[in-house]
Amino acid sequence: MGQTYQNPVPQIGNTSGLFGDLRGNHFHSGIDYPTFGDGKTPILAVYNGHVSRIKISATGYGNALYIKHPTGYTSVYAHLHSYNQKIAQWVKTKQYQLESFEMDVFPGETELQIVKGEIIGLGGNTGNSTGPHLHFEMRNSRTEWTCHPLHFGFSVSDRAAPTLNSLQLVEIPGHGYSEQFLSKKTIYGPNIGNLLTHPLQLNGKFPHPSKPVTISHPAYIELKAADIAAIGGASGIHRITILENSDTLFDFKIDSFSFADSRYINSLIDFSSGTKSYRCQRSPGNLLPCIRAPKNNGLILPPKDGETKEIKVWCRDFYGNAVGRGFVVAANNQGIHHPNISPRTHGPNKAIALKDLHAEAYLDPWTLYDSISPDWQFFNPTNGTVSQKEIRLFNSSLPAHKLYRILLLADHQKLKPSLRSKTVLECLGKEGKKSYHTGSWDQDWFESSLKVFGRLRLVLDTTKPTITSSYPAQPIRISRGLSIIARINDQQSGIKEYRVTVNNRWILAAYDAKSNLLSIPISKEVPLGKQNILIKVTDHVGNSSSHTIAVNIQN
Ligand SMILES: [Zn+2]
Repeated sequence: MGQTYQNPVPQIGNTSGLFGDLRGNHFHSGIDYPTFGDGKTPILAVYNGHVSRIKISATGYGNALYIKHPTGYTSVYAHLHSYNQKIAQWVKTKQYQLESFEMDVFPGETELQIVKGEIIGLGGNTGNSTGPHLHFEMRNSRTEWTCHPLHFGFSVSDRAAPTLNSLQLVEIPGHGYSEQFLSKKTIYGPNIGNLLTHPLQLNGKFPHPSKPVTISHPAYIELKAADIAAIGGASGIHRITILENSDTLFDFKIDSFSFADSRYINSLIDFSSGTKSYRCQRSPGNLLPCIRAPKNNGLILPPKDGETKEIKVWCRDFYGNAVGRGFVVAANNQGIHHPNISPRTHGPNKAIALKDLHAEAYLDPWTLYDSISPDWQFFNPTNGTVSQKEIRLFNSSLPAHKLYRILLLADHQKLKPSLRSKTVLECLGKEGKKSYHTGSWDQDWFESSLKVFGRLRLVLDTTKPTITSSYPAQPIRISRGLSIIARINDQQSGIKEYRVTVNNRWILAAYDAKSNLLSIPISKEVPLGKQNILIKVTDHVGNSSSHTIAVNIQN
């Protein structure tokens, strides 16, 4: 690479996540380095540069810092506990200017310059993080694509081969993955042992085949693999290659990707069960450049009578350490079934428009990954519904790549004009999880956009957010430098805004969405003596609550 970067943490131990790992709705975009507790591990700039972006969020990356280097790359440090003094001062000034804890700002080139090895902050657990760690990325500064950090010489302790935990052959009884139920055959796994597969050596000859696996439909391989360096779950797989005889059937290699493409993961895993396994085929709507499936989109077609196919599967980590398995496929003697393609089936390149008296749905091309027949069903309203009908659009186990539009007709008998602004679309999705979506009105039609399918209806969100604190004896005597803690929550549409004031003046408060905690530091901006801290929280449809905490501030 020419330049030498240094590691972003002082000591390299195990990593808790690697580039390309399978996560919910996205590929992991960097390396996770565990830190020793919250606010204890210094985080180091990997190279000279300047701070090009600071993003502070109650979710996602939490406290994040971006450093743009003259090398053409930007390093990203997320979930920080805190920034160094110079950056923290800059941040606080900006937060008071914007009157907002959360922000996404882009300092100029000369504002916050950084030298290689400088401590930029301390490792923490802010944002969507389940334990103290540094999430570290290298992005191409021009394209914003995130790149595999190990290409830049950063260290992880791993030198061992990945483990293959299971290998299944999944037959597709019809056309398209999504609409059909699949039959899975486990051919290698911890409980099966090694009955049908052979361990493979790279470049080695195929061992003598044992009993072949028989199929009568096109099939793909679904596997679970993990690299030893990873703590918890499938992690550290850099490349999966599948050969059919000597032809490449499927090749997945993750070196860089754009954030817009990260959601394609939903067509590479078993989305309906959420299992973090690799489905080694390319759905026609999966345009992720990391996948090559030059032959039949990665599907193994049943061999002709009397013929067999040799299948070889390799999983590699970044350093090329590999584990391989091979097996033989033969046709099922009950005959080969050719898929029945329904004339109503839409390819993923086609738009879908559904219209009815009570609902409309519009999907742009490339919203779905597989061919599918439009499918919706109407139900009479149940308790709490303010739309004329409830609908089930496709089903909750179907992934959507982008937002689609849905319009539902309101029942104006149940919906007083004064409550129209409190209307939200409720989606009952996977595993009974409910999500709420705001929208806009056109006469009696409520329109919203969402990326999940399931059972849909209009409901009212008239519930105010809750604000609680456990300070029975007030005013609380508190010294500068300490913090007041409150818990804030909202059931349906969710928290949109929180505002903390003293004597009508905005003061900084840090919100952490995963714990619902609002932490209000008693800094020099809060005047000494007896004060009322006023907390106001508003949800996405405008319901708001206020809560006062009386304090007596000592120096
Ligand atoms: Zn991470």
